[in-house]
Amino acid sequence: MHFPFCRGKCAYCALFSRGGVAKEERDQYALKMASALERIIESGVGQVFSTVYFGGGTPTLCDLGKVFERLSPLLLPDAEVSVELHPLDVNDELLSFLRAGGVNRVSMGVQSLDDATLADMRRGYTFEQAAEAFKRVKAFFDNAGIDLIVGYPSPQGAKKWDIEKIASWGARHCSVYSLQLEKGTTLAERVGGDKKLILPSDDEMMDALRQIDKSLSAMGFERYEISNWAQKGFECRHNCAVWRGEDYLGLGEGAYGRRGLMRTRNAWGLDAEDSGVVETLSPETDRTERLLFRLRTREGIDIAERPECKRALDRFVEEGLVSLSGRNYRLTSRGMEVCDSVLLELI
Ligand code: SF4
Repeated sequence: MHFPFCRGKCAYCALFSRGGVAKEERDQYALKMASALERIIESGVGQVFSTVYFGGGTPTLCDLGKVFERLSPLLLPDAEVSVELHPLDVNDELLSFLRAGGVNRVSMGVQSLDDATLADMRRGYTFEQAAEAFKRVKAFFDNAGIDLIVGYPSPQGAKKWDIEKIASWGARHCSVYSLQLEKGTTLAERVGGDKKLILPSDDEMMDALRQIDKSLSAMGFERYEISNWAQKGFECRHNCAVWRGEDYLGLGEGAYGRRGLMRTRNAWGLDAEDSGVVETLSPETDRTERLLFRLRTREGIDIAERPECKRALDRFVEEGLVSLSGRNYRLTSRGMEVCDSVLLELI
């Protein structure tokens, strides 16, 4: 469920989101989301969702009361309901409201542990403020994690990631995304125009990710997907379902969905008329997409499902890029660094 509103625009962000939108418009949007859910209830599908993900933008800039109300009868027992939070929005009243509304998992965008970088990103808080916000989150949600961005350019050059700084936070999950320099962002303009702002080299990015992986492993996290680490039992079930190739509904202006070979965008319901189909994939493209998702995860590729890949995968095992356990081929740490090249050989 996509909520495309933010306080402002972060320097690196090219996601579909708008800043400075009046509260009235944001709340209207949430009501539209609630009526989409109402229509799903009326279609008689019953309890249908095993996971729900509120993403953005910043979902909590909208009044989610009616959305939670309509969502409740559609949730399977034990459904995972995740919400993305911005540290500046965190307060006890909101956290209590989210918990009462059925949320049971929170992901807070921290992005950097360095104050100068946070200021440059235009995140609007310091590391200490993020730490305080996460402490509040943990008082309400045990299943809580953070997002970080690696590779943000610094005029002082590449900095060592001091990830031990979050060791006492009690985070259960950590997503670490590599910065993609996106056209149209203020960061892209500055990297192009200001010679003092230089992107880290590929080697520096890899070093940073190796160091983060080592530190998170020492803190009891396991890398269950290239960009995601979790403590045992706290993997994001929603993302795992997407990576396994299960169908999902995308509700909202920028949300994507998948139903068989169909890909939808900007859908507001389940009916064909309103499904916003943007593309119908060929079975071959669908298989390639599934292969890519599987390859990125700890589960890896079950050779019974992809026997045509065996020869190439066995060669990658010899080269130390892939390991084999039972029927499953998985990327090693080194293989994760060159995942795209491995995939190219497989398709
Ligand atoms: S990074 Fe998140 S909070 Fe910042 S502009 Fe993008 S969607 Fe909004």
